[in-house]
Amino acid sequence: MKIVREIEAMREITSQARLEGVRIALVPTMGYLHEGHVALLRRGRELGGLLVMTSFVNPTQFGPSEDFADYPRDVEGDMRKAEQAGVDVVFMPEGEALYPEGFQTFVEVSRLQKHLCGLSRPGHFVGVATVVLKLFNIVGPHTAVFGEKDYQQLAVIRRMVSDLHLDIAVVSHPIVREADGLAMSSRNSYLTTKERGAALSLYLALRRGMELFENGERDAAVVMEAMKEILLREPTVAVEYVKVCNRETLDAIDNLNDGALLAVAAGIGRTRLIDNVVVRKG
Ligand code: AMP
Repeated sequence: MKIVREIEAMREITSQARLEGVRIALVPTMGYLHEGHVALLRRGRELGGLLVMTSFVNPTQFGPSEDFADYPRDVEGDMRKAEQAGVDVVFMPEGEALYPEGFQTFVEVSRLQKHLCGLSRPGHFVGVATVVLKLFNIVGPHTAVFGEKDYQQLAVIRRMVSDLHLDIAVVSHPIVREADGLAMSSRNSYLTTKERGAALSLYLALRRGMELFENGERDAAVVMEAMKEILLREPTVAVEYVKVCNRETLDAIDNLNDGALLAVAAGIGRTRLIDNVVVRKG
């Protein structure tokens, strides 16, 4: 496994692979890998002859009062996990290389970014779309794998790829969960034992929503209320949103249909967690 820090060196590897007709798969991450990331890497391994993982904590997607400086890092552990998952190249650029002095061009996926997490994290999805387009341009993948854990991010990237005619197949991977159901996240490492217990309520709320749907409930207001009730049982959980949306536009919907998205975000102590599920008949 090669570790590459320079943009030019990264380009050379993938240009050569393209010349040789090798299919390039990309898995972008912010590092601090867990089983969710590893599942994406395994999927990437199946999709490409050359598997590139990027590890970059992107400053432009963090708000001024967010956890950019404290974001967990473990380069050694990441390299071990990446190698085990079959990664060929890890691209770890410096912040100054991606955002040199004078940088001023950003990508805005205007409507999708306004929903869900966009409300409390203005500018977040501009940072995400911008860095992902940069990584696409540097690596030049045929296919890229993203997790459904960050559902809105996935929607934003799919839209960007379509709107800007990028010749990249976006593949999504289902959410990987802990044994009890908590969605894996690098940020789970911030949780104290007590908070870890309370964090499960996000999943329990989604489960409640799914259960109501399965029992025939179609009124989004009723479902959201029942989900909120579960979150409110935990005094340490500060609910940010509980939403029922169209899974493509992310617009709020009044009636649940097959394929509707249930999405939740909450703060627990200093940790902000998100989770979601797409409801399906049967
Ligand atoms: P991050 O390092 O948090 O930026 O995540 C990198 C990629 O891994 C993104 O596409 C995430 O959606 C995905 N990811 C993170 N956690 C999970 C999870 N629990 N299950 C599936 N994918 C995940």
